Amino acid sequence: MSKRSPSPVLSARGLEVDFRVRGGRRARAVDGVNLDLAPGEILALAGESGCGKTTLARTLLGLVRPSAGQVEYAGRPLAYSTGALKSYRRAVQLVLQDPTGALNPRHTVYEAVAEGLRIHGISDNERDRVAEALARCGLRPPERFFLAYPHELSGGQRQRVVIAGALVLEPKVIIADEPVASLDASVRGEILALLLRLREEFGLAALVVTHDLGLAWSIADRLAVMYLGRIVESGPTEQVLTNPRHPYTQALVSVLPDSPVDRSIILSGEPPDVTRIPAGCRFHPRCHELASGAAEQAGVAEACRRTPLPVLGTDPTDGAPAVACHLHAARLTPTADSPK
Ligand code: SF4
Repeated sequence: MSKRSPSPVLSARGLEVDFRVRGGRRARAVDGVNLDLAPGEILALAGESGCGKTTLARTLLGLVRPSAGQVEYAGRPLAYSTGALKSYRRAVQLVLQDPTGALNPRHTVYEAVAEGLRIHGISDNERDRVAEALARCGLRPPERFFLAYPHELSGGQRQRVVIAGALVLEPKVIIADEPVASLDASVRGEILALLLRLREEFGLAALVVTHDLGLAWSIADRLAVMYLGRIVESGPTEQVLTNPRHPYTQALVSVLPDSPVDRSIILSGEPPDVTRIPAGCRFHPRCHELASGAAEQAGVAEACRRTPLPVLGTDPTDGAPAVACHLHAARLTPTADSPK
């Protein structure tokens, strides 16, 4: 069920992020992304590694300054002064993929969770705040964990501590980068259930960065699929995964168990490289619809090879997925032969 609201808590507006590559050339890791995240909504951002999703997440966190466009929090453009970023980072918290790397092995659980409070100068009721954050994350009774060190905990407990360290600051949004990728299958479900419960109980919104569409299916209200710095398809998760419209999404979905795509589509050609963005549709060298002749039949093959696609806006308000594909657009356009 979509939890969309007309007032997003976090937005990307025409975000572009450039970086320098060898030889002094510039490459664009994020190329005109528009996204909205509503309060209490979980949005999954999916794509192969190298597609720009982690750079986009870091830009939304204020860790990377965009080359163009802006991040908006509660309707206001993010300011990049030290003070503004400090209060922003209290409201928008990061949860990292690998809890072992995220936790200092010499810090107890108490110190790990209290660290954010101390950085933000919050000294009242520290013990109660730490205990409450741990309890919210299912580490009960919390006092039992205060003096434990990371190596004394299971992988799932460590990830709960990392999430408690974010929650202790009472954020409005968490940005979770592959939050269960390093966990055993048995623990993954528990952490995903925890994220869902935090959304239900506290209205926490989350952007979940993942290469795993199964994870998106389990947890996300909406899904945005990214390829070479652009969102190529976005919409309600169920719609995108049960009826993928963009050929790239179809290829990703085709290899899932019980896929609605009736055959496995192997992505051909080179994986994404933002230093060499193809002309026309940036997915065209790997597109099965172009290779199979379907784009030719629909009269869009030339456009696929030569005409860049417009940047997608945020999802249409009618709830239909947004798709950046010449073939999809041609199939939506009525022809003279279409029934009236
Ligand atoms: Fe494939 Fe053409 Fe659509 Fe690109 S625009 S995804 S090449 S059909």
